Amino acid sequence: MRAFFHTLYGKISSVFVLLLVLLSVVQIAISVESSLNFVCETDQTINRYLAKNLAKKFKPHLKDSIDYVAIESIIADLMELNPRVEIYLLDKDGTLRTHFSNPDKIKLHKISTVPIEAFLSKTREVPLPIMGDDPKTPDKKKVFSVTPINLGQNHPGYLYIILGSELYDNAMSGVGGSYILSTTAIIFAVTLLFAGVLGSILFFNLTKRLRKMTETVKEFEQGDYKKRIVVHTDDEVGQLTSAFNHMAETIETNMKDLKKNDQLRRELIANVSHDLRSPLTSIQGYIETILMRRDKIDREQRTTFLEIVLRNVKNLNLLVTELFELSKLDTKQSHPVTEPFSIAELVQDIVLKFQPLAEKKSISLLTKIPKDLPFVVGDIGMIDRVISNLIDNAIRYIKPKGKVTLLLKMTNDSVDVMIEDNGDGIPEKDVPHIFDRFYRVEKSRSKNSGGSGLGLAIVKKIIEAHGSKIYVSSDASHGTRFSFKLKKYKTALISA
Ligand code: ADP
Repeated sequence: MRAFFHTLYGKISSVFVLLLVLLSVVQIAISVESSLNFVCETDQTINRYLAKNLAKKFKPHLKDSIDYVAIESIIADLMELNPRVEIYLLDKDGTLRTHFSNPDKIKLHKISTVPIEAFLSKTREVPLPIMGDDPKTPDKKKVFSVTPINLGQNHPGYLYIILGSELYDNAMSGVGGSYILSTTAIIFAVTLLFAGVLGSILFFNLTKRLRKMTETVKEFEQGDYKKRIVVHTDDEVGQLTSAFNHMAETIETNMKDLKKNDQLRRELIANVSHDLRSPLTSIQGYIETILMRRDKIDREQRTTFLEIVLRNVKNLNLLVTELFELSKLDTKQSHPVTEPFSIAELVQDIVLKFQPLAEKKSISLLTKIPKDLPFVVGDIGMIDRVISNLIDNAIRYIKPKGKVTLLLKMTNDSVDVMIEDNGDGIPEKDVPHIFDRFYRVEKSRSKNSGGSGLGLAIVKKIIEAHGSKIYVSSDASHGTRFSFKLKKYKTALISA
């Protein structure tokens, strides 16, 4: 039972039932009060002129003094017909002059004249019932009928009739009161029961959805990240459910990313250690040979060995530099410092830089640059790195006598940069991976040609840091094309 009151359903339904009971008690009290008020009003309206009519009968017996015998006989007749009334003769100031009942029962000897004046007032309409003092029950106000009367020898006073007499009171509380009370109580008991049952069903249904949510959240917490709650409605609970589903979606994606990153980290460590070990082993081997066979190897051989060592050291240097560069881009330590610059001039400079290498491999390095190209916005050093890397790759991966072309094209709000070659292309299955770290189509070839497998990963990072994207298309018959966009200076300013 205690557990029930600890649940939300238990709490809501017990508060609801408590409120219902409270409301019913208040409602019953109001109903009884207003019913009695209605009875009083009706009583006073019907008997409004009772005192006036009775006064006519009293008049002959109040000439010089009060003829008690005659009056008591009139009252006895009246009481027989109407047992609810109590009759009093009052002085003008409300002092009780005469009463016709047991003197021990009279507790109040002066009646307030304010309600009497209100009752008799002709100038202002006071709504009935008007409650006045009852000499027998000073703590209770009663409805009455009153009329001015002469109490003998020009002594003005009032004939004051209490309409709900003691006798009537007893009868009311015994019969009428209990009838009103019991009827009202029955109606409210039925309403209460009905509302209670209906409320309980409603709350049960409402909390059922919350219970379902709790179950799902628990399962989710225990690692079932696929768990979702079916949303049926658009109300607050429905909105909470949708919010949970969105949150679950985000957590699931983040968990996947975390797993992927972890996997990538492991691969990276494996690749780095492998790529470091090979040149280091080679360097160690050659240096040991030179040292061991110090006197036996001739000068020419030593030079060859040292050249191999130097090449390996260069490879190591390149690998470490690129790793460092990539990690800076990853952690956003290195971000583009943009400025407007002439992309046409930059491309010309890069081509000049690569010309000797291209000539050495008998590769023609061409440019197609339209006139009046606008300035673009970017980090000039980073863009230089990107284009150089792509040209370097093209020269390295195509056969001698091949062709590498650098094209610039103006579009609405940007300049397209394209690096094309007519090599053998990248196999279709490898294309989606070439921007991955350490990905090489042909490992041995790349290693021999000095590639670390990080070049394109760096290129992609830099272009993305500029808010752009890099695309590649490649096939064996046409070769490979890398392209990306750089924002035109003016457009970039407006959108900034
Ligand atoms: P690497 O240091 O090996 O050149 P990259 O990240 O620069 O590493 O390139 C990844 C792989 O993509 C290369 O190993 C190469 O196989 C392939 N690749 C890149 N550019 C070209 C190209 N122009 N033609 C053919 N293959 C290319």
